[in-house]
Amino acid sequence: MTLQPLVVALDGPASSGKSSVGAAAAREIGYRFCDTGLLYRAITWLVLQRGIDSADPAALVGLVGEVELVADDQGRLARVLVDSIDVTDRVHAPDVDRRVSEVSRVAQLRAALLERQRAIATGGRIVVAGRDIGTVVLPRAGLKIFLEASAEERARRRAEERGIDPAGPEGRAVLAELRRRDDLDRNRPVAPLRPALDAVHIVTDGNTFEQTVAEVVAAIRQMADAGSRVTDPIRTGSGGVG
Ligand code: C5P
Repeated sequence: MTLQPLVVALDGPASSGKSSVGAAAAREIGYRFCDTGLLYRAITWLVLQRGIDSADPAALVGLVGEVELVADDQGRLARVLVDSIDVTDRVHAPDVDRRVSEVSRVAQLRAALLERQRAIATGGRIVVAGRDIGTVVLPRAGLKIFLEASAEERARRRAEERGIDPAGPEGRAVLAELRRRDDLDRNRPVAPLRPALDAVHIVTDGNTFEQTVAEVVAAIRQMADAGSRVTDPIRTGSGGVG
C-alpha cells in the first residue's frame, strides 16, 4: 500500500484535544488543518432545527449539500457554514453534543461525507482530525496519531473550559455525557472510533497543552523527514502540495 506522505490522520475520543492540539500543531509546521467533527455536528444541528428523523438515511444525506467547511483567518478548515451562515459556535451546543453520535452512526451519511473528506486531504501537508480518519477516511495517511486521555481527565478539561467545577454535579454530568458519546462512537457498526493498527498512541494525561502539541509536532516532523529521505514529493512532483 503506497502511503500518502505529509498527510496526518488524528483520531481520538471526545475532548481528547484533537481540534485544539491538531490546529496548533498544524500551524507550527505550516500544514493545513481540518476538523471533520464539524460536518457531523452541522448535520445534527440541522436535524434538531428542522425536527428531522435522525434515523432516516435519505433525509440525512439530503442535508449534506447544505453544509460546507471553510477556512478561518489562519487558513484552517475549522469553521462550518450551513446555507452560507457560519454556525461553528452553535454546533458546539450541548444539545448537539447529545445527539451527534446517533446521527453519525448512519452508514449512508458517512458514505456521503467520505469523498469530500478525502478530497480535502489530496493536496497533502494537512492534519485531519476525527474518529475514523486513520481507519476509513485516509487509511494511507503517512502518519496516524491516536490521542488518548482518561475520561476523567478529558471531562475535567472540558468542565474547566466551561467554567464548571469538575467535582460538582455539573462536572459529573460532563463526565457521564462524554462516556456515553464515546461508547456510542466505539460501538457503532460502521467506522467505529478505534485506533488504526499502525497508529502512534499519544497519551496526554498529565500533559500541558504545549507538551501534547510538541509531541504531535515531533511525530509529524519525524514522518516528514523519513518521507523526504525516500521520495521528495515536492521535487519529484509525485504528490501535490496544498
Ligand atoms: O470531534 P467532535 O467531538 O466534534 O465530533 C463530534 C461527533 O461527530 C463525534 O462524537 C462522532 O460521533 C462524530 N464524528 C465521527 N467521525 C468523525 C468525526 C466526528 O463520527 N470523523
